[in-house]
Amino acid sequence: MPGTATASCQPMAVFPNTIANGDINENSNTTVRIRALTARVSTTTLRDDVTALAAFRTRYYKSPQGREAAVWLQRRLLAGFADPRLYRDRGGGVGGRRGSDKVTVKLFEHGWQQPSVIARVQGRTNVTVILAAHIDSVNFYLPSLLHAPGANDDAAAIAALISAFTLLTQPFPPPSLENTLEFHFYAAEEAGFRGSAAVLGAYNAARRTVHSLLQFDAIGIPDATPAIAVAAEYLPQATTDGYEAYIGHLASKYLDVPAVATACGYACSDHASAVRFGYAGALVTGRRLDGEGADADASHTAGDKIAMLDFEHIARFAKLAVAYGYDLGHANLLRASGAGDGGVRGYMCDEGYPDGWMGGVRRFAAARATDPLGFALWIAVLVVMIAVARPWEEFTPVVRVLIGRTRRRVMGLIRRVNR
Ligand SMILES: [Zn+2]
Repeated sequence: MPGTATASCQPMAVFPNTIANGDINENSNTTVRIRALTARVSTTTLRDDVTALAAFRTRYYKSPQGREAAVWLQRRLLAGFADPRLYRDRGGGVGGRRGSDKVTVKLFEHGWQQPSVIARVQGRTNVTVILAAHIDSVNFYLPSLLHAPGANDDAAAIAALISAFTLLTQPFPPPSLENTLEFHFYAAEEAGFRGSAAVLGAYNAARRTVHSLLQFDAIGIPDATPAIAVAAEYLPQATTDGYEAYIGHLASKYLDVPAVATACGYACSDHASAVRFGYAGALVTGRRLDGEGADADASHTAGDKIAMLDFEHIARFAKLAVAYGYDLGHANLLRASGAGDGGVRGYMCDEGYPDGWMGGVRRFAAARATDPLGFALWIAVLVVMIAVARPWEEFTPVVRVLIGRTRRRVMGLIRRVNR
């Protein structure tokens, strides 16, 4: 049974460059290999994938299109394994030999239409490094009806992770990993991190060892001075420092922009589910959340369109995902004390969030209430819908009878008074 154990809510992830005698050798094959892979990130591919995802009318988690988008993603991830000599099973496994699958791309079903998608590259150990984004999009005014392209939130991140997965696994077989690498594409983030909570709750229940999770969300719009913004909150200070230093290290080595620390100030994306279940989780996003124009985006409306995106910036995140996955995938994380925490599981850790687990969702609801233009639009749509449906026509006979009855009663009263 899950209990709460504040003392246990201390997810520790030790990153290679924070170890005095680090696993990273600056001139190693790892560096050479990562440079070769990041050089192959293509803005054309990124644009094609964002275009395909934003073309779904919505990716709302409780819609048929939301499911279609997840199935499209599974097929897209498997599309690179075109070699007919590869063994493949019905469940999304691809392997060199039957029974020795090295890569799987599977749907994780939930109690609503949209599944999450999990792409897994088996390593020598089951210590797991997770790169994540969310599949769903939402138009908060009328989620079931209105257009929600979700280009920045979060199609850009899905595209970046598709590129990273493809580069890290092809040509098949990929170089043997020390640790297991997983790409998680969660359903229902916008509904309160429901997909990630289900997946990571299941990992927790199965006592899966997760080194760290890195969530990619809203990566497509940079600040005037572009950077990788890192939010590593509600974690032990050493883990926060580890994320910031490690991502800073990867940025300085493989990217043309630095990493900067930022903060959401509430449970703002799926990495909160990692922390909730005792795993280290942090977010990378396109711009400082406390910076200028941070609230001026078009998230959760029909305005979250491709035209707003900077594909050079998205490419930086694809490169970061390649570097993070390759480097941590090959590092000896078990040797680093505290890393690959295999500690006691079965508790929830959501005490750390200032406004609770659903704080993020409440915050967006509040934003809608204080957005007069959006609210007016919402009311207008409601009025048009009612005008089209004309529900009063159904009730006219009933209303007529009621009016007649009331009139008779009033006339009777008047007659009695006059008498
Ligand atoms: Zn998002």
